[in-house]
Amino acid sequence: MRGPRKQGDSYNTVLTLPARIGFFVVTIHPMNVAVTAVNSIPTLLGQHCTDSPERLRRYEIPERGEPGHARALVVPEDEAEVGALLKTCSEHGIALVVSAGRTGLVEAQRPEGECVLSLEKLDQPIAFTLADGERHQFAAKATPAEHADALGAWWRGQGQPRCEDASIEVQAGLAVDALNQILEPLGLMWPMEMGSSSAASVGGCVANASAGANAVCYGTAAHLALNAYGFSADGREMTCTAPVWKAVAPDQLAINSAQPRIEWGLIGTQGVLGVITRLRLRTYGIPVQREAALIPAIDMPQAMRILAAAREEFGDDVEEFEFISNAALQLVRALKGDAFRSPLARHDAPYYLLLQVKSHKSHVDLAGKLYEFLDDGLGLPEDQIGYAPLKVLKEIRHSITESSNARMRALGGGRLSFDTATPVAVFGEYLAVLEKELVAEYPGISLIAFGHAGVGGAHLHIIGTREQPVSAHARELVKLLFDVTQDFGGTFSAEHGVGTKWGAEFLARAPTVTQEALIAAKHRHDPKGILSPRSFGLNLRSVPASA
Ligand SMILES: Cc1cc2nc3c(=O)[nH]c(=O)nc-3n(C[C@H](O)[C@H](O)[C@H](O)COP(=O)(O)OP(=O)(O)OC[C@H]3O[C@@H](n4cnc5c(N)ncnc54)[C@H](O)[C@@H]3O)c2cc1C
Repeated sequence: MRGPRKQGDSYNTVLTLPARIGFFVVTIHPMNVAVTAVNSIPTLLGQHCTDSPERLRRYEIPERGEPGHARALVVPEDEAEVGALLKTCSEHGIALVVSAGRTGLVEAQRPEGECVLSLEKLDQPIAFTLADGERHQFAAKATPAEHADALGAWWRGQGQPRCEDASIEVQAGLAVDALNQILEPLGLMWPMEMGSSSAASVGGCVANASAGANAVCYGTAAHLALNAYGFSADGREMTCTAPVWKAVAPDQLAINSAQPRIEWGLIGTQGVLGVITRLRLRTYGIPVQREAALIPAIDMPQAMRILAAAREEFGDDVEEFEFISNAALQLVRALKGDAFRSPLARHDAPYYLLLQVKSHKSHVDLAGKLYEFLDDGLGLPEDQIGYAPLKVLKEIRHSITESSNARMRALGGGRLSFDTATPVAVFGEYLAVLEKELVAEYPGISLIAFGHAGVGGAHLHIIGTREQPVSAHARELVKLLFDVTQDFGGTFSAEHGVGTKWGAEFLARAPTVTQEALIAAKHRHDPKGILSPRSFGLNLRSVPASA
């Protein structure tokens, strides 16, 4: 494997980006840029760049995975500076990885000798625009609470106009929760429902086409963006567009971050073509009512029949349909202890479903409608209708990752974590077969399964023990799991992205046409291969024999 490496006092970036495109092979020849020739990276990149080890440390530790090593850190103050930096880095062959909220789970933000380009200072809203063009310009720098107050005052001053089809323009580093805090006074939201939304940036979510619990209703973050603005890796301005979400047929994959859409430009291509600096986002009305229930299921095929029935009854108002395996629920119980709250008296079902429905009409008896669906529609006995305030149910769902982390630390045998998806039509059968095959091959395996059943997405954690660490069989487990996923027409990366974590899998499993399209786009936008150079296994490709 080749990549940026340190050699004594000099720093060399060595990259090979070969690709077979159509009938010919394009090879970017290895470049070997000695940055020492320009003294140091901070000298070249300017006052917002540092190579002080204390400042770098925070950016060397990814959300998951081993710490890396950063050559330098650069924190631009505005969009133009990002463009200028990219141009300079491209000209001088300085490799970069992008850092925003730092919650990404596929190690794309971890430097291995690259510089870190942090978007943390691009964290302000810019303007809110109504469908008729009336516009509120936000102050240049304020807290989310101050922006929310100013937006609310402006809106009231306008006579509280209707907000359908309103949009908001924001800098890419703004956190999802901060955005929602700003929109709330107008009864609006940007519907990303992830456990990481307090830190995850809107730019990161759009770049990664992140999904989350309510993708079944609103689609991925890519679909929630009207436009993404930014710069190609060689510093040229870009404006990108993605379509609004349309429900996907049950026999098709609804989410697949291993298949980036090149025609969407910077949207969903996970920071390998360029950097998003600003976004114009669709906004959505916060539903007037939301109701939810926890429902036991005997297996995942039954769970998916419940989804189909809920779709019949509530249509597009099914806002979330999550699944939680018994093992996942028990981890949450263990972590919470006496503080564990559940609407169910017993917790012995193999799976639990969190069904959330919404209504934008206040006169509808949504709670009654949901109860009727569970009681008459599904024929559930009273003691299996886990009706409870949304907050209680969300607390269970959002505690799974933390509970899994705690169990992994306690058992001391490491963890393998996966984010797969299959078409909804086969999702139930997929999970049933997968669990059977894993248990047959590795009896006693600890599999924690949960995720976004509404779009066929599964988060799978395999937790090892000190006696049986996962590292002993990691390669075989990954292969088995991804082979079964592939057999069901699924993807090894549903929503978290490919990053460096799944680069080799992308090369091994993504269709040739997908790989070729990505490589061709990479050559167009990043001719020197400086941006996220190890993501998607770009550094692992070998020159074809015929090249
Ligand atoms: C507890 C927890 C729960 C999560 N739940 C979900 C979930 O339900 N669904 C889901 O999809 N993800 C989930 N995630 C993953 C994560 O929150 C998303 O991948 C999110 O998009 C990362 O955003 P970030 O700002 O933190 O990006 P970072 O981690 O800072 O960056 C990761 C990579 O994203 C790319 N990137 C970031 N910003 C930009 C930009 N402006 N331009 C170009 N490229 C960019 C770069 O390649 C970068 O290296 C979860 C993470 C955690 C920790």
